[in-house]
Amino acid sequence: MSNHRDAASQNFLDTATTTALWLDQLGEIQQRPALDGNVDVDVAIVGGGFSGLWTAYYLRQLDPTVRIAIIEKHFCGYGASGRNGGWAEGGLAVGPEKYSQWSSMDAAMRLVHAMYDSVDEIGRVVRAEDIYCGYAKGGWIRLARNGPQDRRLRDEMAEPDAHGTLLSAEQARGYLNATDVRSGAYTPHCAAIDPARLVRGLADAVEREGVTIYEDTSVASIDERETEANIIRTNKGTVRADVVVRATEAYTRDLIGERRALLPVYSLMVATEPLPDAMFDEIGLADRPTFSDDRFMVIYGQRTEDNRLAFGGRGVPYLFGSAISEQAETHDDSHALIRETLIEMLPVIKDVQFTHRWGGVLGIPRDWVPGLRFDSASGLGVLGGYVGEGVAAANLAGRTMAELIHGEPTERTDLPWVGHTVRNWEPEPFRWLGVRSSRRILAAADDREYASDRDAKLAYRISKFLKGA
Ligand SMILES: Cc1cc2nc3c(=O)[nH]c(=O)nc-3n(C[C@H](O)[C@H](O)[C@H](O)COP(=O)(O)OP(=O)(O)OC[C@H]3O[C@@H](n4cnc5c(N)ncnc54)[C@H](O)[C@@H]3O)c2cc1C
Repeated sequence: MSNHRDAASQNFLDTATTTALWLDQLGEIQQRPALDGNVDVDVAIVGGGFSGLWTAYYLRQLDPTVRIAIIEKHFCGYGASGRNGGWAEGGLAVGPEKYSQWSSMDAAMRLVHAMYDSVDEIGRVVRAEDIYCGYAKGGWIRLARNGPQDRRLRDEMAEPDAHGTLLSAEQARGYLNATDVRSGAYTPHCAAIDPARLVRGLADAVEREGVTIYEDTSVASIDERETEANIIRTNKGTVRADVVVRATEAYTRDLIGERRALLPVYSLMVATEPLPDAMFDEIGLADRPTFSDDRFMVIYGQRTEDNRLAFGGRGVPYLFGSAISEQAETHDDSHALIRETLIEMLPVIKDVQFTHRWGGVLGIPRDWVPGLRFDSASGLGVLGGYVGEGVAAANLAGRTMAELIHGEPTERTDLPWVGHTVRNWEPEPFRWLGVRSSRRILAAADDREYASDRDAKLAYRISKFLKGA
C-alpha cells in the first residue's frame, strides 16, 4: 500500500485516540487488587475475558459454595473481550460440516442451534444482572458487492440449513445502503453490544456472587497435579486448585510450554464521531444490524448505541515467533485502509471525523476449530480458539465448561466441540511463511475480484479449506 496518504487520512492517523472506543468510554479503570501470597481454591481460572468470566458465572449458578478465583494479568476486559467489534453472533469460525466430520450432521446442527441460543442467553443475563451494554438483537446483514461475492453468497444460501436468507440487492440495501450491492444475506442471530461494558459488567456480577478476582497478576505456568492440587505459578504468589481453567486465548503463547498452541493474529478497528440521525436515514442500519461484505479479508461493522460507526478488519501481518506487540495495534497502513474501506462503502460519511483507532489480538488454533475440553482426572480445562468469533461462542463455551466441571451431563456437554483437541502450530520459520503467504493470497484475491469481477478460485479454495467445508 502507498504511504502517500491524503490529508484527511493522515489527520485521522495523527489525531484519533488509540484506546479502544469502548474502553475509552468507560473512563479510568480501577484495577482490582493483585494476588498477595499463596491461596487455595476449588477452581482457578486464568484469564478475565469472556471465556473465564462466563465459566465463573455459570459455575457459581450451579454451585454457590464452590470457591473460585480468576487470575488476570491486567484487568478484566484487557484482551479481545474489551476491544472487539461487539458482534454477539450465533455462528462459529467453521461451519457444521467440520464438526460433523467426527460426530454427525445432527450433532453439528445441535451445536449450531446452541450457538443461536447463546445470543438470546447473553440478552437474558444482561437483563437479569442489570448490565447496561446497549444490547440490540438486530441481526447481521452480509452484502455481496461484486460478481464473485454474489455468486458465492447465492451458492451458500442455497445450501440446506444456510446461516441466513438470500436477499435481492434492493432488500439488502434496505438494511444497509452501501455502494455496489449485488445481493445480500440476513440472519437474525446476532446482537450488537458494547463489549467492554459487557465484560466489565460480567466481572462485577461474578464478584457479587462471591468469586475472587485478582488483577495485575501474571501467570507464568500451570503445573499439573503435584500432589492433590494443580499449581498455578504467578508473579505474585502461587494458587493451588483442584480445577484449573485456561482462558487466555491469543496470550496463551506467554505460558511456559504453550508458545505454539494458538496463533495470535491482529484485528484492527476504527470508530467515527456520533453521526446525525439524518445521515442514518441515508445509511440505514435502523435496527442496528451488524454488517459486513463477503470479501476474503474479513471486515465487520456496527452502528453503536450512540450512533457512531465502529468498523474493523484483519490485515496486520502476523509477527514472527507469534509475537504480541502493542505497536501492531496502531498499524498506520491498516487503519488508513480500514477507514478508506468504510468510506468507499458509505460515501456519505467521507467528511465525518474518525475519533478512535485501535486493535487487539485473537487466537487461531492450527485447525481453525473452536472448542473446549475438560479432563476430570487432572482437573484441567481449556476453552477458546475462536478465530475472532468469540463473543457469543465464549458464552456457550464458558457455560459448558461450568457444566463439565460441575459433573452433571446437560444438552451442551456432549456437543461436538467438547473434547476437541488440536495439534500445535509449526515451528518458525514455517509458521511465519505459511501465515504470511496465505494472507497475501487472500488480500490480492479481494483486489482482483473487485477489479475484474472474476472469481479468485485459489483464494476461495483456501478459505473453504480453512472453514472445513
Ligand atoms: C479487534 C477485534 C475485534 C473482534 N470482533 C469480534 C466480534 O465482533 N465478534 C466476535 O464474536 N468476536 C470478535 N473478536 C474476537 C473476540 O473478541 C474473542 O474471541 C473473545 O473476546 C475471546 O475472549 P477470551 O476471554 O477467550 O479471550 P480474551 O478476551 O483475550 O481474554 C484473555 C485474558 O487472559 C488474560 N491473560 C492472558 N495471559 C495471561 C496470563 N499469563 N496470566 C494472567 N492473565 C492472562 C489477558 O490479559 C486477557 O484479559 C474480535 C477480536 C478482536 C481483537
